[in-house]
Amino acid sequence: MAEHATLLQRHRAVMPGWLALNYSNPIELVAGKGSRVTDAEGNTYLDFFVGILTNMIGYDVPEVREAVERQLATGVVHTSTAYLLRGQVELAEKIARLSGIPDAKVFFTNSGTEANETALLLATYARRTDQVLAMRQSYHGRSFGAIGVTSNRAWKNNSYSPLNVHFLHGADRHLPQFRNLTDAEYVDVCVEDLRHVLATATGGDVAALIAEPIQGVGGFTAAPDGLFAAYKEVLDEQGILFISDEVQTGWGRTGETFFGIQAHGITPDAMTFAKGLGNGFAIGGVVARGDLMDALHAVGLATFGGNPISTAAANATLDYVLDHDLQANAAKQGATIINGLRDAATRLPIVRQVRGKGLMFAVELVDPGTGEPSTALAAALMEATRERGLLVGKGGLYGNTVRMAPPLTLSDAEAAEGLGILIDSLETVNEAAT
Ligand code: PLP
Repeated sequence: MAEHATLLQRHRAVMPGWLALNYSNPIELVAGKGSRVTDAEGNTYLDFFVGILTNMIGYDVPEVREAVERQLATGVVHTSTAYLLRGQVELAEKIARLSGIPDAKVFFTNSGTEANETALLLATYARRTDQVLAMRQSYHGRSFGAIGVTSNRAWKNNSYSPLNVHFLHGADRHLPQFRNLTDAEYVDVCVEDLRHVLATATGGDVAALIAEPIQGVGGFTAAPDGLFAAYKEVLDEQGILFISDEVQTGWGRTGETFFGIQAHGITPDAMTFAKGLGNGFAIGGVVARGDLMDALHAVGLATFGGNPISTAAANATLDYVLDHDLQANAAKQGATIINGLRDAATRLPIVRQVRGKGLMFAVELVDPGTGEPSTALAAALMEATRERGLLVGKGGLYGNTVRMAPPLTLSDAEAAEGLGILIDSLETVNEAAT
């Protein structure tokens, strides 16, 4: 206990100041089982953020643990990608098939950042240009390329990137001139803007658009239906590639489709993935058109990308998701919670919006007096849910959104329990603010 009390001081002394910690009194998690985790002080929580969407099918899943233990027992923890790795090939075959991308090939990395870096490398190499399109309010990672296509001031700050990036409208409906437009009108305005950007701000040669189907760090905000398809039509005219960042939206989490972009009726040239695939073990990657992947003539490897331990975990996790049709469960549990929150929000002036799809949903909070985004109320809601035994995530462009992404295995009882805690916490915070 005393050791836990000093851990925060030791963390602050030796870790970067910008490494974000949740809660005024940050938690050290020491155990997990199913949808629940336990902290060093013995408190147990229902976890509606599962790491950051990483423990996608819950904690300590026997199928994943046993697959990893079987691999550990062989002694082959790592041999490098210079050798044939059976688990890696099997995983690539599954992801290529699920992607719907014709003649797809897969390259494995250790994170979402590296996956995006690889996709940007493929696109800029194939098109021989450093010009890239990205979306406002996006988050794609921390490296030079990924931070370049990130448009979220809280995360990007003044970071330098060598890419030449032009940011497009999509999920950002905050500007007054956009607020009263119908979705169809907004899509038309966005497409006109894209054409204008291409004609006036670029040299006419652009490598790719990178976009999240639902923006994760951006607060689970989404472009309206029809926007990505309309963008793709313009991009196709000029041979510009479309990269869908599925780091948060992959594996059926949105309930609608297996990858988020598939709900928009378009097939991207590349998709990037990470987070939930290894159910906590580090693995990410890119699935892309084979010609695009093979165009990069470099002799390459990723020392740890797709290593035997991570691929054992990932194969077991992906099989579990498919065998138990967890996409359908995400749709079902998500609908219960989102509808419940929307219903409660009608009586809660602090809630500006409840949004999301499947088991990826968020509550955006505003000051009830001014209607302005309120980071303080989001922080208060996080503390209130924690006190009641529920862990959630924060985010949003103004830090005023509380995000939730429970495990895809969430049961009816856990969905009801989490919803009850959320409503109770919202009511308490609302009462204090009004
Ligand atoms: N892309 C998206 C959409 C993300 O949400 C994240 C992380 O939050 C990343 C990329 C970066 O992934 P990682 O933290 O694994 O490098």
